Amino acid sequence: MAKSLDLDLGVLALAHLKNAAGDGRPALLGASVQDLESLAEALGEPRYRGRQLFTAIFNRRIADFAEMTDIPAGLRQTLATACELDRPHATTIVASVDGTRKYRFETPDGVAFESVYIPEVAKERHTHTLCVSSQSGCSLGCRFCFTASIKRYRNLTAAEIVGQVLAVQADVSRPEIDGKITNIVFMGMGEPLLNYDNVVRAAQLLTDPAGLDFSTRRVTISTAGIVPRIYDLGRDLTTQVAISLNASCDETRNRIMPINRKWPLSALIKALREYPLPRRRRFTIEYVMLGNVNDSLRDAEQLVRLLDGIPVKINLLPLNPHSRTEYVPPAPERVTAFQQALRGANVNAILRTPRGQDIAAACGQLGPAASQL
Ligand code: SAH
Repeated sequence: MAKSLDLDLGVLALAHLKNAAGDGRPALLGASVQDLESLAEALGEPRYRGRQLFTAIFNRRIADFAEMTDIPAGLRQTLATACELDRPHATTIVASVDGTRKYRFETPDGVAFESVYIPEVAKERHTHTLCVSSQSGCSLGCRFCFTASIKRYRNLTAAEIVGQVLAVQADVSRPEIDGKITNIVFMGMGEPLLNYDNVVRAAQLLTDPAGLDFSTRRVTISTAGIVPRIYDLGRDLTTQVAISLNASCDETRNRIMPINRKWPLSALIKALREYPLPRRRRFTIEYVMLGNVNDSLRDAEQLVRLLDGIPVKINLLPLNPHSRTEYVPPAPERVTAFQQALRGANVNAILRTPRGQDIAAACGQLGPAASQL
């Protein structure tokens, strides 16, 4: 058995690559080209090996050092001992009747998180979305969301976030499924902007042309409204942004999303108005409709006024029911009337059909084992 090399990640400025197993090996699924160049140097190798490794891991998506045949055998051996390349371990995969697949991952330190693969029903559109988690559990306590009821949580590392994409891609590319991830949304468990550094790092890796090469138009970061971090996001990334708005006045939003007491609608909307949105882009506004809470025509009119002048596309999501919410889904005729009111005011509003409801994979339904509640 080869001995671990005991790389001092702090000294190498690679502390952000610490793996979840806590054994000191850097998790390379979270590494940038520069990180891998430093690593190569630390191992006494030429710097260009770093770029070679980056291509092998993210572009060729090789999961085992032994298969990186353009890298000398000795170095492959060293890397296999000193570094971690593991993708998150899926303990359960469940498939919905509609083709949606939910993955439950468990980490060596005993937390769980989920990803949901959502293939487009109209196959010719070829839009197949992966919804990734940014935290195990969530601290925000939104009152309509199941994930909010999980007590234990921690931030996921960049490697764990990128690893969800690599693990699911490997699973769905099998001939029986013949799938391919085309879009990524940070809409799984957790609040991405409360795990800011790891989420930005993961998004950069996902959109790096030399690596996984997703277009920035096809990666969406969703937030419940961590306002200072929205300003940071505008400086750091050009990926798409989604805002979970869910209400058009502070009174209602305070009630259903406690985070609104810290950053009320005025601050959130100001951040959107000041956001350096790339040309021809819009924000996605998520609006979970709760029966008789935020689904009236007055709410719709208020929403139009609130968003006036901001380029948006609104996704209407009738509440997906679960056991841990006091709220109920809206009556179908109220949903139709709400949507028509928005459209009548020239606001693009799309009614989202829930996916994977039968396997508790729809929005707001993610949350692992009862033991973690
Ligand atoms: N914390 C981030 C990322 C999670 S996205 C955010 O809030 O944006 C999850 C989305 O599902 C959010 O838009 C949320 O409003 C929505 N959602 C939560 N619970 C839901 C439920 N029970 N039914 C439908 N949508 C829900």
